[in-house]
Amino acid sequence: MTQQIAFIDLAAQRQRLKDRLDEAVMKVLDEGHYINGPEVAVLEAELIKFGHAEYGQCCANGTDALVLPLMAWGVRPGDAVFVPSFTFASTAEVVPWLGATPIFVDIDPDTYTMDAEALSAAIEQVVQDGRLKPRAVIAVDLFGQPADYPTLSEISKRHGLKLIADSAQGFGCTLSGHHPLHWADVATISFYPAKPLGGYGDGGALLTNDKALHNVIRSLRDHGAGKVRYEYDRIGMNSRLDTLQAAILLVKLSVFQEEIDLRNRVADRYAAELTSEVKTPKVIEGGISTWAQYTIETDQREALRAHLAERGVPSAVYYPIPLHLQSPYADFPIGPKGMAATEAAAPKVVSLPMHPDMSQADQTQVIKAINSFNG
Ligand SMILES: *Cc1c(COP(=O)(O)O)cnc(C)c1O
Repeated sequence: MTQQIAFIDLAAQRQRLKDRLDEAVMKVLDEGHYINGPEVAVLEAELIKFGHAEYGQCCANGTDALVLPLMAWGVRPGDAVFVPSFTFASTAEVVPWLGATPIFVDIDPDTYTMDAEALSAAIEQVVQDGRLKPRAVIAVDLFGQPADYPTLSEISKRHGLKLIADSAQGFGCTLSGHHPLHWADVATISFYPAKPLGGYGDGGALLTNDKALHNVIRSLRDHGAGKVRYEYDRIGMNSRLDTLQAAILLVKLSVFQEEIDLRNRVADRYAAELTSEVKTPKVIEGGISTWAQYTIETDQREALRAHLAERGVPSAVYYPIPLHLQSPYADFPIGPKGMAATEAAAPKVVSLPMHPDMSQADQTQVIKAINSFNG
């Protein structure tokens, strides 16, 4: 009988870190600082170190981490923010929250990250049209790999736009040894449990080297707090990370680099041994992915997924329908280069089991299942 393997094995990680996690959680329960306990500041310091940033702060989730800098920059109705369509909803939804307009930009067909030429053309069209004011770009480190930051940041700077690295899936990824923040104004992180650095609930963080921005975001995430208690400098929101999550994440962050390395070993083996007709992922030259997902392409997705399921191999589709083709987003503009790569990828992509605790036997099971598929 074939054994069912895990897509992401959080239980194995829990077992591996059990004693340390239990101790960290019990300490918070015993000390009772459930909100803004000392673990939150320690986690912020460790994230800064890990991500090579000057400033960092935690917040309630990876979506808030995206909206907070936009709020801090005063993004508002009449502004344009350039986003991919082949991404999770968060990347785009935060823009209309502020009354601004998301402009959808196509992806590179090999890396699934924002296409620089398509971005350039989209910005130029908005400038020429004159009705919206270009303000910011949100690049996504989709599936864990760094976007083409040297080019995207050059284009953003040339047009005076802010650049956010949506690194919800990609925190820990590097390009030529640098983290995305080396090029971006802000890098954002999600601690959603299934992300590479996942907590046991919701959480997020943002990193920046911009002190003024950092200070405004600190106030915004605490109801717009001023210097004196119950005096407000601006209209803010409540976006905190629980002390319990911070304590859990500190344990997980302490082994995170090892886990990224282990994920890369799984990816290397997949790349070397997947021999059938599927297209295996390509990482940008000089890039190291966190492999939030290992995503292949096939023209026969449903048949392949059924074939895998029969062999105990789960799979998932990220993302079946690009945002610009979904009704809530259908009226927002797309760049003049169109969405050909996005629309070509969506019906073909399928993600395979990927996690740091994956045994050699499980990897073999996935590889054999794929390689025995003849369509
Ligand atoms: C998960 C994710 C987010 C949002 O993170 P949450 O913590 O779930 O709010 C944002 N962008 C991308 C690309 C994501 O994958």
